[in-house]
Amino acid sequence: MGGGITGALVAHAFATAGISTTVLEAAAVGRGSTAASSALLLKEPDLELTQLTNRYGVRRSRRIWELSHQSVDQLIALLKRRRIRCDLKMRDAVYYATTAQAAERLRQEHELRARLGFESEWLGPVRLRRLTGITGHGAVLTKASAQFDPYRACVGILRAASAAGAHVFERSEVRRIEKTPDGVCISTRHGTLHADRVVIATGYATPRFRPLAGRFRMYRTYVLATEPLDIGQRDDVGLSDVMVWDTERPYHYARWTPDHRLLLGGGDRLVKPGQQRGQHSGTAARDLRAYFDAQLPALATVRTERVWEGLFAVTADSLPYIGPHRRYPRHWFALGYGGNGMTFGSLAARLLLERWQGVKSRDHALFEFARLRRP
Ligand SMILES: Cc1cc2nc3c(=O)[nH]c(=O)nc-3n(C[C@H](O)[C@H](O)[C@H](O)COP(=O)(O)OP(=O)(O)OC[C@H]3O[C@@H](n4cnc5c(N)ncnc54)[C@H](O)[C@@H]3O)c2cc1C
Repeated sequence: MGGGITGALVAHAFATAGISTTVLEAAAVGRGSTAASSALLLKEPDLELTQLTNRYGVRRSRRIWELSHQSVDQLIALLKRRRIRCDLKMRDAVYYATTAQAAERLRQEHELRARLGFESEWLGPVRLRRLTGITGHGAVLTKASAQFDPYRACVGILRAASAAGAHVFERSEVRRIEKTPDGVCISTRHGTLHADRVVIATGYATPRFRPLAGRFRMYRTYVLATEPLDIGQRDDVGLSDVMVWDTERPYHYARWTPDHRLLLGGGDRLVKPGQQRGQHSGTAARDLRAYFDAQLPALATVRTERVWEGLFAVTADSLPYIGPHRRYPRHWFALGYGGNGMTFGSLAARLLLERWQGVKSRDHALFEFARLRRP
């Protein structure tokens, strides 16, 4: 249920494993959060390793980080193996500190990453400026992350899933799911489908799963795309071909597109009850521009050409829910990725396929609903 990048990756994993698979998408595939995404494929999750170890201890946190790294590598390998044309580019990621205090914390984060075996390179202010044009107080560089066009990637993965036998239906909103003695009966306006399991890949808990809504905080997140810059303008801006994000919360991030635009994003805002879509997009976009104009002063003469916003769901520990929920027999969920939907969507495909194949591993418990006490 859901034909975004998660549904696509799950369908691909299951279909290529020889399992009969159907994707039901309410609207058009890849047009939800996936199309809105700025698609920084980062190995480092939103939650710093230091924060995660405070919550879950070293062993568990190291494993979560390892899985996040592996998921990025696996998604990149899949896109390459299936020759999916989606402007995939390997990029280093630079996570920079905007204040001296943040730099001190970031230095500890860097040391912990290195101690636990994760590749991490410290950049002092001079190297940071040389690489990014940004005047910050220090940064951590992570190699071999990537960026891509998420919509084309999603469609390409679904094509590969179809070639492996998956059926993909658009304009097929799931309206009812009923338990049967040996599975589920899934109804759309056009017909019904009997399945052993249903995977809920709708990004967050839709109204159908209202009892789960309390497990997510919903945020609006904003992106702007500048006009294309010529080589001289790019040099003046000073940001090389790396992806950057900062230690502020909510964070800000930037990356180049293949046609030399800058994508500037972040500045997420909590969705309040009754708040309408688009209500704050004007001020949010202005704030984002003001932030980056201060970081990269040569941007001041560059026009913003497009602005958009999207929704994402964040869980209490910033990790997704991947797996069953006791209230919903024969359902598996893959929801609540925060800003790491590309990385964790890939992980969801792997973990759910393992479940199907009866593989028992401690990895599953790391992302189960049961790890956090809620209804
Ligand atoms: C602006 C923005 C920037 C982002 N930037 C990044 C980034 O740089 N890096 C990163 O890793 N992540 C990023 N994310 C997060 C990432 O894009 C999402 O987590 C990811 O796309 C979620 O994919 P999904 O397939 O789970 O959900 P979606 O792409 O939202 O797909 C869910 C699908 O379910 C369908 N659906 C809903 N209800 C039903 C129903 N009843 N029946 C059938 N279908 C249904 C919807 O129509 C939709 O197509 C960003 C998100 C946004 C909004």
